[in-house]
Amino acid sequence: MATVYREGDISLVGKVAVIGYGSQGHAHALNLRDSGIKVAVGLRPGSKSRAIALAEGLEVGTPAEVVKDADLIAILLPDQHQPQVYEDEIAPNMKPGAAILFAHGFNVHFGRILPPAGHDVIMVAPKGPGHIVRRIYTEGFGTPALFAVAQDASGNARAISMGYAAAIGSHRAGMLETTFVEETETDLFGEQAVLCGGAAELVRAGFETLVEAGYQPEIAYYECLHELKLIVDLMYEGGLDYMRYSISDTAEFGDLTRGKRIIDDHVRANMKKVLAEIREGQFAKEWIEDMNTGEKRLDAARVEAKGQQLEEVGKELRALMQR
Ligand code: NAD
Ligand code: MG
Repeated sequence: MATVYREGDISLVGKVAVIGYGSQGHAHALNLRDSGIKVAVGLRPGSKSRAIALAEGLEVGTPAEVVKDADLIAILLPDQHQPQVYEDEIAPNMKPGAAILFAHGFNVHFGRILPPAGHDVIMVAPKGPGHIVRRIYTEGFGTPALFAVAQDASGNARAISMGYAAAIGSHRAGMLETTFVEETETDLFGEQAVLCGGAAELVRAGFETLVEAGYQPEIAYYECLHELKLIVDLMYEGGLDYMRYSISDTAEFGDLTRGKRIIDDHVRANMKKVLAEIREGQFAKEWIEDMNTGEKRLDAARVEAKGQQLEEVGKELRALMQR
């Protein structure tokens, strides 16, 4: 088994500039602060997050202002906007030798941000959405994280990244060492094939199959989306085995005899193709092209996704389940 680290030296982290206060940004900033690290948050002058960060008692400035005296700069902006903000505000103002940290390897791996020699380039990628990273920390635990070094200028980059991971609470759950290449490729694959793309289309296909066959959409929703969380919760607690232990024998017989017919060789071949597109840079090329031309493909796909019957039915049923 790979080594899972449970410790990091927080004292190596120094003063941190957290750039961006979104999903990951707010979680890192608050967890770091609560671990005793000095934090300043870098936001655009008109940012709506400004008031929220100030209400938390955090120091807030523009990215250009807060990087000036930071020992470590955590770039937690959306991946599309990082290169511009890095070039315009961060690079011209950062302290010599400041460490630069990412939560995802995309921009470094695909050469969109190339920090000069002399700066550590590190990654701490929590394996969970930012709001969970924060919530679990406040409960006294942590979210597992990957850490990696792309450039070791100080000779201490690895220890600094481990210290940062510990400061956001990840040492409690486990820290795994990786590389920018491995994190980028596996993260993109996971979200495309299983977590987001695969799961969302599986739900949609199941829902639409039932509705097209004449069943009530509300029942199809409960069956294909609502209950998915309950099943995934069991997997999360104890793996596939515990999920199968908890479901009925009828469900288990159906699962074990039918599952492989749904996720068949054809699906596995598609997964391999999607992975190859990630590794060969085809996915990054398409996404960067879309970023550079106003994100038209992303917007059009969002409109199509929002119009699904599944979403309409779900809105009404979830309103009834508000406690
Ligand atoms: P986000 O979209 O939630 O938040 C981005 C923040 O940046 C917002 O506060 C926004 O107002 C601000 N911002 C946007 N453009 C800006 C600009 N030009 N100048 C200054 N501020 C600007 O982003 P996120 O999902 O937290 O992603 C941040 C990084 O973390 C990315 O590299 C992402 O891949 C990585 N990551 C995210 C998650 C996640 O759960 N969302 C998980 C692991 C890693
Ligand atoms: Mg991910």
